[in-house]
Amino acid sequence: MEDLNYFNLIESFNVSGCPLCSILKERLEKFLYNFLDETVTDVDSRLRIRKTFGFCSVHAWMLQKSENCMGQGIIYQDLIETFHANFIFPSDPKKTRKALDNLIAARKCLICNHVGEIEKRYLEVFSGSYDNMELRAAYEKSQGLCLNHMALAVRSWKNSRTIPAYLEAESMKLKGLDAELKEFVRKFDYRYSGEKFGGEKDSWIRAIEKISGRKGSHY
Ligand SMILES: [Zn+2]
Ligand SMILES: [Zn+2]
Repeated sequence: MEDLNYFNLIESFNVSGCPLCSILKERLEKFLYNFLDETVTDVDSRLRIRKTFGFCSVHAWMLQKSENCMGQGIIYQDLIETFHANFIFPSDPKKTRKALDNLIAARKCLICNHVGEIEKRYLEVFSGSYDNMELRAAYEKSQGLCLNHMALAVRSWKNSRTIPAYLEAESMKLKGLDAELKEFVRKFDYRYSGEKFGGEKDSWIRAIEKISGRKGSHY
C-alpha cells in the first residue's frame, strides 16, 4: 500500500505554485492552531521551548496572531526569567558574552524543526517514487517545485536512474515560464499595445513563487 504522503503529494500537484510549499503551509497552519493549547499544559514541551529558546522571528509572530494570549504569557514569562537568570551578568560582561554566543549558536526554532521534518519526509517520498509513472505524469502537469525545494530535492535524490527525468521535467517548466514572461514583457511594448493579455498575464507572479517560494511560507 502506498504511503499517505504519496497521495497528498499527488493531490498537491494540482494546486497552483510549488506543491511542497503548499503542503507545508497547510501543515504549518494546522500545527500552529493546536500548538499553544497543547504546549502550555505540557511540562515537557515547555522545557523544550526553554531549551531551544523560543522561536524564529517569523514563527513567533505567526503564533502571536493566535488568540491564546495567556498561553504566550506563560511561555514568555518562563523565557524572560530564564534569560535574565542565565545570560545577563552586569558584573561579568565576558561571561555574558560567552553565554549569549553559545545561545545564539545553539538556538533552533522547534517549529522550523517540525516543518523541516515533514519537508524531509515528503522529499524522500517524491524522489523515491519518481519511477512511478502515475506520480511522474501528475508531476509533469504541475507547476513544479520552487528553487529552494528543487535544491533540497536534488541534494537528497538517491536514485541516479530517475534524476535525469526529474530535471528534464523542471527544464520544460522553466522553458515554458520563460516563454510566457517574454510574451508578457513584449505586450508592454507600445508597438503591440493593441494585443490583449492571455494566460501569460500572471506569469510574473508565478515566477516570483518559482524563485522565492510561496508567499508567507517559512520553515
Ligand atoms: Zn517550495
Ligand atoms: Zn521557525
